[in-house]
Amino acid sequence: MSVKDHVDINQFMEGVKRRNPGQPEFAQAVQEVAEDIFDFIQDKEEYHEYQILRRIAEPDRVISFRVCWEDDQGNIRVQRGWRVQNNNAIGPYKGGIRFHADVNESVLKFLAFEQTFKNSLTGLAIGGAKGGANFNPKGKSDHEVMRFCQSFMTELYRHVGADVDVPAGDIGVGAREIGYMFGQYKRITNQFTGVLTGKGLEFGGSLIRTEATGYGAVYMLQEMLLRIGNSVEGKTAVISGSGNVATHAAEKIVQLGGKVLTMSDSGGFIHDPDGIDQEKIDWIKAHKTHRRGRIEEYVKEFKTASFHAGERPWGVKCDLALPCATQNELDGHDAEVLIKNGCMGVSEGANMPTNLDGVHKFKDAEVLYAPGKAANAGGVAVSALEMSQNSARISWTEDQLQTLLLDTMKGIHNRCVEYGGTPGSEHIDYVRGANIAGFVKVADAMLAYGVV
Ligand code: NDP
Repeated sequence: MSVKDHVDINQFMEGVKRRNPGQPEFAQAVQEVAEDIFDFIQDKEEYHEYQILRRIAEPDRVISFRVCWEDDQGNIRVQRGWRVQNNNAIGPYKGGIRFHADVNESVLKFLAFEQTFKNSLTGLAIGGAKGGANFNPKGKSDHEVMRFCQSFMTELYRHVGADVDVPAGDIGVGAREIGYMFGQYKRITNQFTGVLTGKGLEFGGSLIRTEATGYGAVYMLQEMLLRIGNSVEGKTAVISGSGNVATHAAEKIVQLGGKVLTMSDSGGFIHDPDGIDQEKIDWIKAHKTHRRGRIEEYVKEFKTASFHAGERPWGVKCDLALPCATQNELDGHDAEVLIKNGCMGVSEGANMPTNLDGVHKFKDAEVLYAPGKAANAGGVAVSALEMSQNSARISWTEDQLQTLLLDTMKGIHNRCVEYGGTPGSEHIDYVRGANIAGFVKVADAMLAYGVV
């Protein structure tokens, strides 16, 4: 069969949608990658012949299970849990666990698909997976969260393992939840192995894992700016979210001499024209993570700020934008507003925060735009380093890990540049660069295995 006999992207996407009905997030993630990969593999017969893209877009397996738990009032509650193991061509499955009311199979399949390319981009030997449950931790007591985590792990433990699949945190899953899940894994299996990352420092966790995703997203921005002779210093930044990724992205922007103007949560955003400095970031971290409060209370504490209920921050004039909350939180209109207001750099701390229309707007305007699979890979990279430390039963110092994180982000940036060049222009299409660089390593490993 020759190349010209193969399906085009529209036929390919029709097939993806037909085989995955009612899964729009998954189809969106596949389309964003396919738009670049189809062009790249046009003259590469082997990838067509072995149906590599079609195979990457079909998870190795999707495990779904019932999770029963008892709330503080003695009611029996039933949730659904999943683990999507997308691809382990280059290493054990690796990817976070999300607890959020909106979690469903489509969301987890898109995240596992994205994770496959992201993990490949880090240059480390890790495959792609994602898991979670439609469990809303908001308003739950510590004991309710503990009982849920224990019940979740009572099924998940059969499908994971230090050399099989190593989950981590994501939205709604932080140090508390990882601790409860690791405790239950250890109790069931009687094994102390690096089966989860994001653990507490007392039981095998790695320094800077908490900071790594947010810091990494800013390092990516800095690398893109340095390449064109610019930097974060003196720039204004608009950030969405106020969780793990958002607060650490804000921290690194401030450390590099930038000014953070906004942060948000699912209730709206705060705008502080004086800048959200380290002291204010510390207040947000304590308020959101430890007190599990709402961002709107920021304006009672810091009087110069305003709260905008039910809105997203993209209308605030800025030089840099970092979407760090959730998927599809920035659309084509938002992208147009950012571009019109002079935004020159976008780095996605969240996974797929920009919808396809927004992606096209940023690409067409030649904004320095790093997609999540490149920009937020610092977290999984340090997770992989946590796995190495656990296997060797050692702990690296903060200095060593900070250097490794920065080097990893530089490596990701350079791999994007290698594949994202635009003929006749200095501009780099970081989306194309990330998609192709992530694809090539996984695809070549799959070719080596034959049809399996
Ligand atoms: P957290 O749970 O710590 O924080 C999530 C933040 O996003 C909160 O401020 C939350 O607000 C907000 N948010 C969640 N859902 C919505 C929504 N539907 N609309 C508006 N705001 C929302 O999660 P993380 O910081 O860990 O994750 C944020 C993003 O980064 C996700 O896309 C995740 O997949 C991605 N990511 C995370 C990594 C990590 O290391 N943690 C690694 C790579 C990517 P509220 O408090 O109101 O719910």
